[in-house]
Amino acid sequence: MMSSRNAHTGIGMTSHRTRRRLIEQLQSLGIKDQRVLDSMQALPRHLFVDEALASRAYENTALPIGHGQTISQPYIVALMTQALLDKPRPNVLEIGTGCGYQTAILAGLCERVVSLERIVKLHRQARDRLYDLGVRNVVFRHGDGFAGLGEYAPYDGILAAAVSPDVPQELIEQLAEGGRIVMPLGGGDHQTLVVIDKTSSGLTRTEIEAVRFVPRLAGLG
Ligand code: SAH
Repeated sequence: MMSSRNAHTGIGMTSHRTRRRLIEQLQSLGIKDQRVLDSMQALPRHLFVDEALASRAYENTALPIGHGQTISQPYIVALMTQALLDKPRPNVLEIGTGCGYQTAILAGLCERVVSLERIVKLHRQARDRLYDLGVRNVVFRHGDGFAGLGEYAPYDGILAAAVSPDVPQELIEQLAEGGRIVMPLGGGDHQTLVVIDKTSSGLTRTEIEAVRFVPRLAGLG
């Protein structure tokens, strides 16, 4: 399914090697989870960006995807996925589908991903792109991700790709006991990637590192 496009662009010839270099870079930055590294090695990131940017798809950098949004930096995708999947988490909620790259990585490692996106064009593009890639275990919805989606709750894991000043109560309610949230908290220049675990005795919070994400967009009103 991907080979026809690769055959036309010639990207397929080099992308395996350039992807390998990216994976080595992620390892040198401290990413250890082999399943995460393997799934990023296997997924062609150039199919998630505009063709004009495809040659830069294996740089460890965020790239524009239109509508003022970006595909997350590969290191951040790896870091968040590694932090979320410390154990099997079958039912996962993703906030901020964007181009769907992180979604596809999660879909390869979880039973089901529910992915919410506030910008309708990005939502539709990502849904169609993952369909074309043969990914079938994702529920895509257009809407405010920070309200969650009760229909598929409780979630074993929740991952957010837009920064929020705090953890919305809805997300805590939709998280299973034993569940984990990975999200950036704060705003502007002061953002920290945090891990929140829901235990029988309450919530625990662990800070991972300073990050920079796009701000959370308001709900549909
Ligand atoms: N992992 C994605 C990240 C995209 S950037 C990727 O690599 O492509 C963050 C995304 O969150 C953007 O697509 C943005 O539109 C979306 N977003 C921002 N606020 C949101 C909200 N309230 N609900 C759902 N999605 C939101």
